[in-house]
Amino acid sequence: MDSEAFRQWSVKAAEWGADYRESLRDRPVRAQTVPGQIASAIPAAPPETPEAMEAIFADFETTIVPGMTHWQHPRFFAYFPANAAPVSVVAEYLVTAMAAQCMLWQTSPAATELETKVLDWLRQALGLPDGFVGVIQDSASSATLSAVLVMRERALDWKGNSHGLPGQKRIRIYSSDQVHTSIDRAIWVSGVGQENLVRIPTEGASRRMDAEALERAIEADVAAGHLPAGVIACVGGTSVGATDDLGAICAVAKRHGLYVHVDAAWAGSAMICPEFRTFWKGVEEADSVVLNPHKWLGAQFDCSTHFLRDPDSLVRTLAIQPEYLKTHGKDGLINYSEWTVPLGRRFRALKLWFLMRAHGLEGLRGMIRNHVAWAQGLARRIGSEPEFELVTEPMLSLFSFRHCPKGAADLDRHNIDLVNRINDAGRIYLTQTRVDGAVAIRFQAGQFDATEADIAEAFDAILSAAREMSAGG
Ligand code: PLP
Repeated sequence: MDSEAFRQWSVKAAEWGADYRESLRDRPVRAQTVPGQIASAIPAAPPETPEAMEAIFADFETTIVPGMTHWQHPRFFAYFPANAAPVSVVAEYLVTAMAAQCMLWQTSPAATELETKVLDWLRQALGLPDGFVGVIQDSASSATLSAVLVMRERALDWKGNSHGLPGQKRIRIYSSDQVHTSIDRAIWVSGVGQENLVRIPTEGASRRMDAEALERAIEADVAAGHLPAGVIACVGGTSVGATDDLGAICAVAKRHGLYVHVDAAWAGSAMICPEFRTFWKGVEEADSVVLNPHKWLGAQFDCSTHFLRDPDSLVRTLAIQPEYLKTHGKDGLINYSEWTVPLGRRFRALKLWFLMRAHGLEGLRGMIRNHVAWAQGLARRIGSEPEFELVTEPMLSLFSFRHCPKGAADLDRHNIDLVNRINDAGRIYLTQTRVDGAVAIRFQAGQFDATEADIAEAFDAILSAAREMSAGG
């Protein structure tokens, strides 16, 4: 592709992106395809000779787009959002054009220095104390894996990387059963092993980890000759927003010298609003916190921010400097690849910089406050419908509910069928979870472009689908 064609197709792609965003409300939210449908439209073997861009672009529009679930759709209420505010998409165009590899200061000084600055902006916006420093990870899963590796190394007196785990005491890490599965994976990948992830019971409506039970579990492990290493707390768990009491957990962990990592992947973005910071009261005592601006803040996927009180322990765990990565004569600089498991790093700070400048913190706070208020209003409306019950109260903008028509023999099956019917209709997109063993339907409001009318449409879509089912339709 020569420079002129690159210009032409880049303009076309940008125009396509703007048209796409404008047309989202008219598209079904969840892809309305069946498994294998897209694959069957793609040739089995690659082309031997060049194809025209016109043909490639046309296939993108006719084959690929209809098979996409639209994460930027204003009526996407499933999972958690993966937002891409238009301004952050513009930043990503620029990043893509430069295609820099930002592993070392030397390989991209501006990317490194902007990352340091913009994460300090975000730290201030979140109300995290001075002294916390951040790094952008590709995902919360990677941040949690890094934190677990630090827990492991600290507990093994920094000898795990060299000696491995055989012959060591059993490393023990503690969490509730409400944490995301990325915690289990971090435990697997770090070699700690699932049996050493100790599940602490939860209590109360917030489903918070029982701090006294945590203390007892640590003491029992010490007595058994095990090696307690860290605690993973959650603020806004994926299923129904479970939120640990960070102050209580950090106090227990501190007494035993344990490292605390907080997974606030979704809810963390809401902490730019001072009134929501009660949800992570005590966070200043934690060692490490992850939140994903790509979820709720509006930074194009992927952008996961990992804040640390002591980055030296992370660097001590992950840094490795063969000759080809040394930057001689430039000591004391930040090389962010020493803070992350992957060596290669995209330039992710630019979209956060564009986003925070173009919307200002007040703009972003307004969006989050609207989502919370609208979701709470919807929860009240659904909860007051005769055949519906609210299963969990809103945690920020996430709640769960269930349809319980009289005479329904199997409520789990009924609610799965209801979710499928709602999603097949395409007006909105919801997902389900299990609460205390029973199926519940999750609703979260978090779309950057959502309006109150979209939330009202959700109410209508849910009620109409439920009525159709009750009428036997
Ligand atoms: N933690 C929580 C609470 C989540 O909800 C998720 C994903 O939704 C994750 C972690 C994993 O995030 P990532 O996809 O960035 O690894």
